[in-house]
Amino acid sequence: MFLRISKSVRVLAVACCLAAIAAASFRSAHAGATPSGKHKVYISVDMEGVAGTVTADQLGPTGFEYERFRRFMTNEALAAVQAAKHAGATEIVVSDSHGNGENLLIELFPADVKIVRSWPRHGSMMAGLDASFDAALFVGYHASTTNPHGVRAHTFSSAHLAKVALNGDAVTEGEFNAAYAGAFGVPVIFASGDDVAMAELKSRLGNLETVET
Ligand SMILES: [Zn+2]
Repeated sequence: MFLRISKSVRVLAVACCLAAIAAASFRSAHAGATPSGKHKVYISVDMEGVAGTVTADQLGPTGFEYERFRRFMTNEALAAVQAAKHAGATEIVVSDSHGNGENLLIELFPADVKIVRSWPRHGSMMAGLDASFDAALFVGYHASTTNPHGVRAHTFSSAHLAKVALNGDAVTEGEFNAAYAGAFGVPVIFASGDDVAMAELKSRLGNLETVET
């Protein structure tokens, strides 16, 4: 029981911290209004980097802890949504980018947030992103498959891919997705996940606000 309570408190603390930092980074990245007057934010949400996630029991519908952890995932995504709105976002797209793509509890999201669900979909973890967006955020991200220190470290599929590389260099999902966003001119301004994943992303993407879960 104690463990359960302390985990909930920890997830809440992570969510608050995530919201504050995401809002600050969006504000500093977009101090002025865009020509259209819109502020569009894209939020890609994975699950392995959500606070407390360690085992497969938490990561899929057959696991006994899945229902709790998809709620944790939802709460961290909601913190990012709240932060984006607080910082002036007028349009928000959230992509459910883990497992079957049907993890987020959609009824808990504000009605004006668009949610990308399930597969197959063009753009994968960044489906729906285009050049009209002002910023992208990553929530619940994890380390790459070539990094043995990360929690649940893999790149897209541990069953099928021993390495994913861009221009010969092994990349993380975050780095790959940031390159995809970069092709549209959309900056990634924030990421949350385990400490190893955040260190990887910072070392590769440079100046990036992060929250360690
Ligand atoms: Zn995942």
